[in-house]
Amino acid sequence: MSYSYEAPVSQALFDRASVVTPGGVNSPVRAFKAVGGTPRFMVSGDGPYLTDADGRDYVDLVCSWGPMILGHSRPEVIEAVQAAVARGTSFGTPGEGEVALAEEIVARVAPVEQVRLVSSGTEATMSAIRLARGFTGRAKIVKFAGCYHGHVDALLAAAGSGVATFGLPDTPGVTGAQAGDTVVLPYNDLEAVRAAFAAHPGEIACVITEASPGNMGVVPPRDGFNAGLKELCAANGALYISDEVMTGFRTSKAGWYGVDGVAPDLMTFGKVMGGGFPAAAFGGRADVMAYLAPAGPVYQAGTLSGNPVATAAGLAQLRLLDEAAYAKVDAVSAEIRGLVTDALGKEGVAHRVQTAANMFSVFFTADEVRDYEDAKRQEAFRFTAFFHSMLADGVYLPPSAFESWFVSTAHDDRAVERVAAALPAAARAAAEATGTGADA
Ligand code: PLP
Repeated sequence: MSYSYEAPVSQALFDRASVVTPGGVNSPVRAFKAVGGTPRFMVSGDGPYLTDADGRDYVDLVCSWGPMILGHSRPEVIEAVQAAVARGTSFGTPGEGEVALAEEIVARVAPVEQVRLVSSGTEATMSAIRLARGFTGRAKIVKFAGCYHGHVDALLAAAGSGVATFGLPDTPGVTGAQAGDTVVLPYNDLEAVRAAFAAHPGEIACVITEASPGNMGVVPPRDGFNAGLKELCAANGALYISDEVMTGFRTSKAGWYGVDGVAPDLMTFGKVMGGGFPAAAFGGRADVMAYLAPAGPVYQAGTLSGNPVATAAGLAQLRLLDEAAYAKVDAVSAEIRGLVTDALGKEGVAHRVQTAANMFSVFFTADEVRDYEDAKRQEAFRFTAFFHSMLADGVYLPPSAFESWFVSTAHDDRAVERVAAALPAAARAAAEATGTGADA
């Protein structure tokens, strides 16, 4: 595929980066491998816009993969960060900011009675799994194909996100011992979960699921799926872990729990709660959390856990996220979804826009996508053409057909108009694209 525009400064930076960093990036999907072309090196963000090293600006529909729900450089968040930095950047002791952030999370999400702060979503899910195993004294865990829970060894089996983008079945470096206790099941299939419990009686410590998956594209749980998981876990002495790293504090004030009301035993958070800084968390039932060191025997720790700058950013962001803010994000999401559907419909491109509250993604298939196998059947080569046309016209989409799109309270009419203006050409490019699959 050839590109009708160039990004020479980004390309020069990418060349430099590729000498000193594997693949030139610090997280795989940023490399544009699935769509080709030059990854844009960003230098600043302001509201709904990003500006790259070549001086071009873009309407940002990635929002740092979820965290920037208030848009970039929101003054109140920046001020909170500047005030925190002025007091010092890390103490290695407890501090009031982390108490306040924990209180904010506990106040928002009823099933979370206690919470432990960490620095990444990966750490949160890894620690939650360890805690579940320690609490139940069992080894096996159940996860779903296409769900991504960070790059935890045991959870990389049939994972979504970058693993889906690159079509990797699994990853070298994860040993049989690390993955051998992971049972991978098709998403949205309660019968498969029932069968797994029957096949491994008394062995399954937990079922972990994305509260509403966004890492194989957006594939919401069918009615009753999460409730069914909770019921099956309870009936079999296993813990139900809801991974809300992506959905938490984004899909509502209380995340996906605020949408479906199914109370998990443990939950994991990240992204929005860090306000653009490395802050994440896991929490849940007090009797389970009591197993965590130093209260209990299950070890977990972190030099930068509860970092004062990260907690200040997260707290400032969460405090701005009231019902009106969510209503705004929901409305922008609905508007952009409508525009995408109209544009693709006009060009006769088979597609489905799937939604989970304000998260959404576009699948290039006419059929409903209920699991990872369905997601992989889409005509991803059409996404590639669509993506590059949007990028050329100043709209930054996730560079993969297997990722959610994200919007913010800062996406105003002007930003939405720019998206609307870019869509007709992108839809035409998708219609005219030829290929056979994700890599075409
Ligand atoms: N869980 C989910 C649902 C995620 O979407 C992600 C990241 O995208 C993670 C866990 C891992 O979080 P992090 O990238 O902060 O390690």
